[in-house]
Formats: sequence, C-alpha cells, structure tokens
Amino acid sequence: MAFQKNQIYTVEIEDIGAEGEGIGRIEGFSLFVKDALPGDKAKVRLTKVKKNYAYARLEELLEPSPDRVTPRCPFHRQCGGCQIQALSYEKQLAFKQTKVENNLVRIGGFAPEKIREIMEPVIGMEDPWRYRNKAQYPFGYSGEGELITGFYAGRTHSIIANTDCLLGARENQKILEIILKHMEQCHVSAYDEKKGRGLVRHVLIRKGFSSGELMVCIVINADGGKSGARAERWIPEQNRLVDRLALLHGMTSISVNFNSEKTNVIMGAETVTIWGRDKIRDKMHLFRTDGSEFVKTDKSVTYEISPRSFYQVNPVQAERLYSTALSYAALTGKETVWDLYCGIGTISLFLARDAGQVYGVEVVPEAIEDARENARKNNIANAKFFVGRAEEVLPAFYEEESGISEEAEAMRHPDVIVVDPPRKGCDEICLRTILRMRPERIVYVSCDSATLARDLRILCQGGYELKRGRVCDQFCHGVHVEVACCLQRVSS
Ligand code: SAH
Repeated sequence: MAFQKNQIYTVEIEDIGAEGEGIGRIEGFSLFVKDALPGDKAKVRLTKVKKNYAYARLEELLEPSPDRVTPRCPFHRQCGGCQIQALSYEKQLAFKQTKVENNLVRIGGFAPEKIREIMEPVIGMEDPWRYRNKAQYPFGYSGEGELITGFYAGRTHSIIANTDCLLGARENQKILEIILKHMEQCHVSAYDEKKGRGLVRHVLIRKGFSSGELMVCIVINADGGKSGARAERWIPEQNRLVDRLALLHGMTSISVNFNSEKTNVIMGAETVTIWGRDKIRDKMHLFRTDGSEFVKTDKSVTYEISPRSFYQVNPVQAERLYSTALSYAALTGKETVWDLYCGIGTISLFLARDAGQVYGVEVVPEAIEDARENARKNNIANAKFFVGRAEEVLPAFYEEESGISEEAEAMRHPDVIVVDPPRKGCDEICLRTILRMRPERIVYVSCDSATLARDLRILCQGGYELKRGRVCDQFCHGVHVEVACCLQRVSS
C-alpha cells in the first residue's frame, strides 16, 4: 500500500510512543498519532510519511478508549508537559510497568517469566497532582501584544498563558501574578526571543516541600557585571517588587540570574541574591520498605538547593525511589559503597546513613561542592566525593597499585555499587570496571529503561543475576519512567 500525506485511515491504537503519541498499525506500517490513546478507535489523517512509519493527526474519535478520563488541565493538549493526562492514572502506571518489562525482555534478553517474577508492584502516587517542586515559566507576549507567562506549546516557543500548572505548587500562581503586575505597573518588558530584546526571560520557582521554603529566581536579559552587588537595581523599581514577594509566606530566597545569550538554555552562569538566603533547604526521610509498604523512619537528610542545582522534581516519590535503592543495597553499617553519577549527593547521603563508607562520583564540579556541603551540614563524615566521569574515576581507583592502604583495597573491592546515570546509560568502560571490582550487589537506578536493559544484559553476562526491579512514578501524567533494580553476584 502506498501511503501518502493527507490520506485518512481508521486505526486502533495499541501503544504509547516515546513522546506520548498513540501508536496504531496498518498492515505492519506504524502510525504515530498525537492525542490518541491505547484502546481508541479513530479516524486519522497522515501528516508526514516516512519509509516504515508515518505521523498522523486525530481527525475523529470513533470509539474512545475505555481508559480515557477528562483531563483536569484545560491546556493539556497544547502544552507539551503532560502527554498522557487523558489516560486514567491507573492505566498510566500499568503502561509504565509494561514498558519497562518489555524493554527488559526485548533489549535485555531476559525471559518474560523471570521479569514477571522479579518485578515488584509499581510505586504510584496517592494524589498525582501538584507534586513538582520546581517550575520554570517563560515570559513574553500574546498575539495581541499582552504581557503573559505560562508554558510553551508542545515543540514550539509560543507561550500559552497559564499561571497555575496543576503539577506545580499552589504558591507559583501568586508569585507569577505579583511579577506580572509589577511588570505592567513599572513598564518592565518581557524578553523577545527573535529580536533578542526585552528584560525578563524566565522565572524559576522552587519550593522545599518539607520546609515550606520558597525560592524565586528572575532570569533577565542582561550581563551580570559586578558579582555580589546586592544593592544593584537590575529590574525597574526592584525594591517594590522584592517587598511584595518577600511578604509571601515561606519566601526565603529571591535572586536575579543573568542570561544575555541568544539560547534555549534557561539560566546563565551568574546569579545574584537580591533578598534573603542564596539557597533553600529541603529534607528527605528514609523509609523502610519490604516491597509493599513504606514506613517512615526517623533518619533523614537535609539538602541545600541553589537555583542551578539538579534536584529531583518530585520529592515525595524521590524519597520512595531512594528508599527502594537503599533497601536493595541491603546495608548493615559496615559496607563500602560507590555511588556513581551522584549529583549533589542525594542518594550518597541516604546510603551513608546505613553504610560504612560511601564514595560519590559526579562530573559537574558545582554539584560535588554541594554534595560535600550537604554532607557537612548533616554531620555525615563517611561520604567522600570525587569530580570526574564515572568511566574514568572508577578505573583510576581500580588500577591503582594494591596494598597501599586498607581504604584503597576496600575501594577496589566494594560491597555495593549504585549507579544513577543520565538517559544514555552507563559507559561500557564503567560497566566493565564494575564487573572487575566484583561488588556483592549492584543497584541500578535508571530514567531510561531501554539503556537500563542494554546495561543489565552486560552485567548479567558478566556474572550477576537480576534479583528485583521496581518502577517508581516520578513524572505522573508524563511518559518518562524511573526504575530501580538490584543485581546480585552469582559467580564466586
Ligand atoms: N543521583 C543523583 C543525580 C542523578 S542525574 C540524584 O538522584 O539526584 C545523573 C547525574 O549524572 C547528573 O548529575 C550528571 O551531571 C551526572 N553525569 C552525567 N554523565 C556522567 C559521567 N560520565 N560520569 C559521572 N557523572 C555523570
């Protein structure tokens, strides 16, 4: 069959693609249909035809999927944020679990029975709304020239006016309204991407969910100049704006970030605090888990978060994900543990509460500074951090002459290695070094189950057995999936 643009077909949607689009098939030819969901029967119009697949648009929903729900957010089809909000939450979780299982079977080469046996029930949220502790709102103008803030429409840079995203904190709306009003009253311009003119580019808001502390960072189109010049007035009538924001309950830090580059990168290199502290605090508790229940313990870690640091956006689920990883590490207080790709030490400090000694590795130097400071502030003395690539730092320690010290020996043969790499997964050299170090257990935390499956295959061929795995829903209504796995050494 020759497929052509603008042709109309009737398809049944069977799956969800990487960007949340529905996937249907006609004679082995895959159609990627935006806004369609598994279980839908729909008339679709082809918009772009490739050799083995095509993109299509929903023309008419002939029979809606029984799993469809009315999306709470009126903007969900335009906004790129919540691709699967129209699918019931229960089915979202089932979809994520199946996606991980399929990847482990197809890419990882594991037997389907084995995967069914080792996978624990997915960890969903009781209330999958308002879970994000971070929001970045672009500022600009509507078609009518009205000053607005909101979200980029999916894959574009046109802004949809909306100050109350249902995934974010309630406080965001108040903060954005104060800023919009100030900009109108004092004639402060928003940035125009095309012309490279105008002042306010983005507003970043962070909230410490357990502390209630709020951080506002206004990203402006200007050069920083003198760092630390707190009294400098970067925004017209800046003090009036600061006074209004500072009155909000929980307000802890107000800063200006400078970004005069013509770039999609939101934040520039320099930030100046104009009111309050440079960082906010948040606390995470360790939970005990036996595979079903999560029981809060009295152990916790407090983190300091600056505007540019990486910090998990869903703190409620992050506690559960890290607690799962910690239970997989099965620590008794004596173990030597490596935490590779450690960021600001979030997982490392959890591990340190129950381990003998933890070594964190991370490529971003500022993150390592934060990790060390977080360890100090929590009186955690058994965590050390190294800046560098995991695939370089780990071999360097492994290949060091043995017998130098007891610590060096323990580092070469740790009890547990935890990895939490970015989407592209672990470098093969890193995996090969882990195999040579022969830890008793490996805990793999992953944000991409395809690369996870690829890496687990290598580890299992190298003498490890996949023991348990668990999906933890960090991005409710979105398509991304986070999963933790535990491997045990089999060869002696
Ligand atoms: N475990 C942390 C961070 C996970 S995100 C947390 O949960 O908060 C992945 C981290 O890996 C990022 O901080 C990124 O900067 C870092 N990273 C990316 N490539 C790396 C590499 N080759 N070696 C070490 N760290 C790397």
